Amino acid sequence: MTDQIKHHLTDALLMAYSAGTLPEAFSLAVATHISMCDECRARLGAFDTMGGALMDECKGAELAADSLEATMARIKAGNPARITDAPARGKSKGMLPAPLRDYVGGDIDAVKWKNVGMGVKQAILPTARDASARLLYIPAGAAVPDHGHAGTELTLVLQGAFRDEMDHFGPGDIEVANEDLDHTPVADIGEDCICLAATDAPLKFKGLIPRIAQPFLRI
Ligand code: ZN
Ligand code: ZN
Repeated sequence: MTDQIKHHLTDALLMAYSAGTLPEAFSLAVATHISMCDECRARLGAFDTMGGALMDECKGAELAADSLEATMARIKAGNPARITDAPARGKSKGMLPAPLRDYVGGDIDAVKWKNVGMGVKQAILPTARDASARLLYIPAGAAVPDHGHAGTELTLVLQGAFRDEMDHFGPGDIEVANEDLDHTPVADIGEDCICLAATDAPLKFKGLIPRIAQPFLRI
């Protein structure tokens, strides 16, 4: 899995995740990518160490080593945004990575899909309302309508692959989109694409009525 991943988390996202300042929906996307990606898990470890050292420097004079540890543990335990330390995907069974299964209440067969048109389905996951997380099911060859972004959108591929104006994204890849990007993600031919998408603002669809594009046939 790790070898195929080309698109990783940004430093800013990993740092914010480490500090516990991300909205829950983004934390879920970050935690799920980390559960699939050795490289980002290692980078997170470095940020965690850096954060701990920083805290040590600030408070080290007054705090004994063990009370710092206790403080860190309390911060971690009391921080719902931090969904880390999930087992790596290889160690868990099922199609969905462990962080997601907790939100779905089971594996992929437990997902309560709702049709949004042209075979595209979604399932909104229960997170705090400052951002939203959903599973997207895009049939092979189908497209999500052309849209822009008012905020940040994280799209993590769980199965299959899609292509947009930026690049090609396969299993484990995460796309970080923002105000600068307008795109039309199209699922690859051959396999239905399942993604986790987290957004902190509504998408801006180009059409008057958001429409699910015609299945894309490559003849
Ligand atoms: Zn990564
Ligand atoms: Zn988008």
